[in-house]
Amino acid sequence: MEIIEKVIILGAGPAGLSAALYAARAELNPLVFTGLQLGGQASLTHTIENYPGFPDGVGGAALGELFQKQAERFGARIEFDSVTKVELSSRPFRVTTYGKEYFSQALIIATGASPVNLNVPGETELVGRGVSYCATCDGWFFKEKKVVVVGGGDSALEEALFLTRYVSEVRIIHRRDAFRAGALLQSRVKENPKITFVLDSVVKEISGNGKVEEVIVTNVKTGADQHIKTDGVFVFIGHTPNNALYAGQLEMDERGYIKVDNKMQTSVSGVYAAGEAADSEFKQVVTSAGMGAAAAIETGRFLSH
Ligand code: NAP
Repeated sequence: MEIIEKVIILGAGPAGLSAALYAARAELNPLVFTGLQLGGQASLTHTIENYPGFPDGVGGAALGELFQKQAERFGARIEFDSVTKVELSSRPFRVTTYGKEYFSQALIIATGASPVNLNVPGETELVGRGVSYCATCDGWFFKEKKVVVVGGGDSALEEALFLTRYVSEVRIIHRRDAFRAGALLQSRVKENPKITFVLDSVVKEISGNGKVEEVIVTNVKTGADQHIKTDGVFVFIGHTPNNALYAGQLEMDERGYIKVDNKMQTSVSGVYAAGEAADSEFKQVVTSAGMGAAAAIETGRFLSH
């Protein structure tokens, strides 16, 4: 006989695992599908300094493991599988993974977001050969080498600082002359002797023979091109939500974020969304965790009605 779950949670980042903790404590026996990355994007960050309760900071991967342990302590079931299809037109909702098919009375979507690509010649060909989207994962390979970081937000500046542990030089390439990142990070990068800036500039091309050797950068004010010799290109120009599975089934905004009300309810009754899948605004570990908790509380209310 087919089993109908009370709640299935898609994603195991801060939103999904916080939802799992709250749903488990509410005795909803949640089933969580991790997707590819337990801990989500946060687990790829070397140190998280702004999650409350860790005055000295905490490793991103370590925080993900703590979230997991805490949710499992109360009975959350965590499956290392990826969801390939969801059907939301009738309840129970149908969830298909690589291995199996599941049914659930409620869903919490917390599938997060992925890094945006530059979309310039050479980028795709040289991924893993000098082009990277994760300093924590790949920084070590650039010991004593020169790298560029593209972007002007918190991620770009934070990862540039992290890279200075290994590399001899970081150039931050940013399309404006003012940074979007917070003031503290801005002063830290400006004080760091290994970091210099290429402002008002965009990457036009990445080139190299089998590995990154050079970026061509265009100054957006003068139109002039500059060739910069480099061993690595780290791209941090924002994120796009991982919501393709729900296209045509849930209402989304023009940028593809799932629309939720202040109770994390989506356009389909019984389907909730939390974290970066539904948040174009804050994108912090603490706000994602809060959204996950709220989604689980509302799921409990929904199921008891
Ligand atoms: P973001 O804040 O959206 O910044 C993206 C940066 O990339 C911006 O500087 C943007 O330039 C630039 N950019 C966008 N598209 C570009 C393109 N096609 N070519 C060149 N440059 C481009 O993204 P993020 O830094 O990944 O941060 C995402 C969210 O996570 C933010 O809310 C951030 O506060 C949060 N976050 C927080 C922390 C922290 O608190 N420590 C750490 C990491 C991330 P413009 O400025 O000109 O738009």
